[in-house]
Amino acid sequence: MPTQEEKTFAKNFDINKLSDVPEGLTPQRKLKQSRGVSKNDAPVHTQGDIYSGAYVMGMDENHVKLENFNENFKVDVISCTETDMEFDMIGIDAALANAFRRILIAELPSMAIEKVFIANNTSVIIDEVLAHRIGLIPIAVDPRLFEYLSEHDQPNEKNTIVFKLHVKCPKGGSRMNVLTNELKWLPNGSEFLKESGDSTSKPKTYTSFNQSQDSFPEFADNPIAPTHPDILIAKLSPGQEIELEAHAVKGIGKTHAKWSPVGTAWYRMLPEVVLLEEVEDEHAERLVKVCPQNVFDIEDMGNGKKRATVAQPRKCTLCRECERDDDFVHRVDLRSVKNHFIFKIESTGSLPPDVLFTEAVKILEAKCETVIAELS
Ligand code: SF4
Repeated sequence: MPTQEEKTFAKNFDINKLSDVPEGLTPQRKLKQSRGVSKNDAPVHTQGDIYSGAYVMGMDENHVKLENFNENFKVDVISCTETDMEFDMIGIDAALANAFRRILIAELPSMAIEKVFIANNTSVIIDEVLAHRIGLIPIAVDPRLFEYLSEHDQPNEKNTIVFKLHVKCPKGGSRMNVLTNELKWLPNGSEFLKESGDSTSKPKTYTSFNQSQDSFPEFADNPIAPTHPDILIAKLSPGQEIELEAHAVKGIGKTHAKWSPVGTAWYRMLPEVVLLEEVEDEHAERLVKVCPQNVFDIEDMGNGKKRATVAQPRKCTLCRECERDDDFVHRVDLRSVKNHFIFKIESTGSLPPDVLFTEAVKILEAKCETVIAELS
């Protein structure tokens, strides 16, 4: 049986407090933990080690801690337009950065054309291909203003947007392009009549709108239309005609890519280019020439001497062209900062990219709340 003194010793024992155990991490270990390194044959130290339990392997407490995250997490917006945004996400693990990317692509809703009712199509494009092309046209409308249309719902003003397209190429003229500006919004819903066996009842259309959508304040001065008026849908020869109705509903990219609100969302780790020793004179000039991204520059040191400097490390694409040169392979170190991500979002136009990112954060938050609720 251990004595009380032995029990107390075991309870308070900490290997890191022994005098012959060095404090903290060695510089090599720190580098391995925080940077991926691109060697000329393959990248090394690529694995992340900020996860629960990682400290057991590294003898260092680097597992996820909320207070560390709160202190270190930072977002710096580099540029933001109506459709594109570049920002730096700092102090985050690749798993979380990737979660945002996946949510942006596959889980944020948008409105896309799901049903196409073709009344007439004498163009060379067959109906299925025409419907597929129309389905991929991005629509400039906030999906948060609409509800999902479930299997048992009637298409109504809250879950469906209807467009019509009727174009005829006059005989005797030249060929014409059918562009997205020919898709005209029908705020009162479908105009195509459904066939019914009962000739006494009022004819029905393919939607049941109780209210015109242009009476909604959001659309009164802002009619719904495709994001771009000049996307080519079809080409017509003289005498050919297309008449159809297209019904858009709310969905997510996980169901079909046409609902993805982003053209793409992607990230890369911040590159870090380090000169391990001075590169001077003609070597410096050659290093500047070898880099296709103009990462290096020349510094005049006086007395006719020059040396290479790392002027624009952010532009480095880690193409490793500089490391393929025997003169530079041991003088240039190419690294990636593991917790610093350069993130880019390209919106299709339904919502601005900063709003899309905010919505992605809300979705991740809701997922975390679900997990916490199920575990507690
Ligand atoms: S990896 Fe490519 S882009 Fe980066 S510094 Fe070397 S040559 Fe330039």
